[in-house]
Amino acid sequence: MGPQQPAESRCDGCGQTRPLFLYEPDHNMHVIPVPCEWCDRERQPLLCVRCWGAERLREENVPMSAAEADATAVFAQLANNNSRILARQEADKATCDGIAAATKQAEADR
Ligand SMILES: [Zn+2]
Ligand SMILES: [Zn+2]
Repeated sequence: MGPQQPAESRCDGCGQTRPLFLYEPDHNMHVIPVPCEWCDRERQPLLCVRCWGAERLREENVPMSAAEADATAVFAQLANNNSRILARQEADKATCDGIAAATKQAEADR
């Protein structure tokens, strides 16, 4: 990973002139709209390496709200069910294709 082409400018964190990297939030996507300091920013800050690291650490350590944790669990469950349904549809389709192919073959043999 790594932001590229640092431009030297004033860090939004410490105010020093340093090579800067655009901060991008990296926590899991929210499954319900929640107020989030990182996602709600109009503009992500340009930070020096040290401030960038500190910001990432702060973001990683912010606890998920109970409502969001619940919604995330429900969402994971749904996604799980969905993938099972998809897998079954795939299997059904494979069966149908097999039957169709066999039918065609039988007709060709006739
Ligand atoms: Zn800084
Ligand atoms: Zn967020």
